[in-house]
Amino acid sequence: MASAPKPTLDFDGLRPPSPFLTPAHDAWRRKLRAFVDAEIAPHLDEWDAASTFPDELYPKAAKAGVLGMGFDPALGGTGEDIDLYHRIIFAEEFFRLGSGVVFADLATHWIGLPPVIAFGPPEMRETVAKPVLAGEKKISFAVTEPSGGSDVGGFQTTATRQGDHFIVNGEKTLISGATRADYLLTAVRTGGAGVGGLSLLLIDAHSPGVSTAPVRGLGWYNKNNGSLRFEDVKVPVGNLIGPENRGFAGLANQFNIERFSGISATLAMARTAIAEAIAFARDRHTFGQRLVDHQAIRHKIVEMIQRVNACYAYLDILVWRFGRGETAVADLAMMKIQATTTLEHCARECLQVLGGRAYTGANRVERIYREARIFVIGGGSEEILRDLAGRQIGL
Ligand SMILES: Cc1cc2nc3c(=O)[nH]c(=O)nc-3n(C[C@H](O)[C@H](O)[C@H](O)COP(=O)(O)OP(=O)(O)OC[C@H]3O[C@@H](n4cnc5c(N)ncnc54)[C@H](O)[C@@H]3O)c2cc1C
Repeated sequence: MASAPKPTLDFDGLRPPSPFLTPAHDAWRRKLRAFVDAEIAPHLDEWDAASTFPDELYPKAAKAGVLGMGFDPALGGTGEDIDLYHRIIFAEEFFRLGSGVVFADLATHWIGLPPVIAFGPPEMRETVAKPVLAGEKKISFAVTEPSGGSDVGGFQTTATRQGDHFIVNGEKTLISGATRADYLLTAVRTGGAGVGGLSLLLIDAHSPGVSTAPVRGLGWYNKNNGSLRFEDVKVPVGNLIGPENRGFAGLANQFNIERFSGISATLAMARTAIAEAIAFARDRHTFGQRLVDHQAIRHKIVEMIQRVNACYAYLDILVWRFGRGETAVADLAMMKIQATTTLEHCARECLQVLGGRAYTGANRVERIYREARIFVIGGGSEEILRDLAGRQIGL
């Protein structure tokens, strides 16, 4: 049996082969890459510096068939023959350049819109889903509060019934896309204490009493991530998404599916960072030889590749199990921790390989290093996911 050919040690070559990827997946990857190379890559440094990107990107992404991935074609989506690998490839291609700013905002509808379509009143398919998937309107998912995001049962934003309306008061923070959202899918307290008193309410972000401000100091430098204040905001009762006081009941599956995006994003960023570190280490000479010829540096690089490869093998198995109708909740939680801490390790080690060069701005590793931390916090933090996995496996 012939030994495997040498990988190219660039972004593509650092993805280990998968028996599950098909020509249809490859075509989807090419389509996304063409979009990212044409519409995002030329502007990325400028957008990084400005901490935002123009609104025009939304309709462009819609027209290119990028925004609607996984949604009903009747609503403007591209839902046919879509499987989890399409979602995985989407995250890989958007994070290939090592910038989460674009993805974080452009993809907020992936978490905000599905509950509206699944559990909202039918007319919202026309009034909300269609314009969002056309890139004409934007939706954010507003859950986290200044008092904390992990302890969902402790949320304090209230929605009090008054005739045909709810009156909403409270605050949210760290909400991706909040400063330019048109709709806010918001977790509100309609009942008693705990998770059992929470509902989801679709709030028009332009309603009187809604105000927003950017959250400063994030590693992403994204000025569209914002805090929200609700002061006596009047919201029609018809904007309730799902049953009253059972707002989170239908979301578990969505959270599980969403983890695949976080996992894939981190592995893509790790590959980008490793590829840059390898290119630098092959070019740089210290003490009379290439940096990569020093054993300490070679070991760093091999260990990073080894960790990434292990993650992809784990990921393939989880996708396979998912395809058989089995949601491996505990493994997905553990996989997310595995992938995100792998990125943290790789970001640290790649920055170490680049040394001072990492601080000169002429590379993506510095940016990836800044972004790596959030993945271990958002979408289920390391500690909360370990607890979840522990409960699921019956510890
Ligand atoms: C860039 C960015 C984008 C975001 N986008 C959104 C968004 O679009 N919508 C949204 O709703 N939120 C968003 N968030 C918020 C994110 O979901 C929260 O940061 C996350 O849920 C954790 O909540 P917290 O930061 O309030 O931490 P806390 O809940 O206050 O916890 C603080 C730390 O303690 C740990 N901890 C908590 N409880 C326990 C325990 N029982 N045992 C051990 N450790 C524990 C946590 O893991 C965390 O590390 C975003 C955050 C960032 C940074």
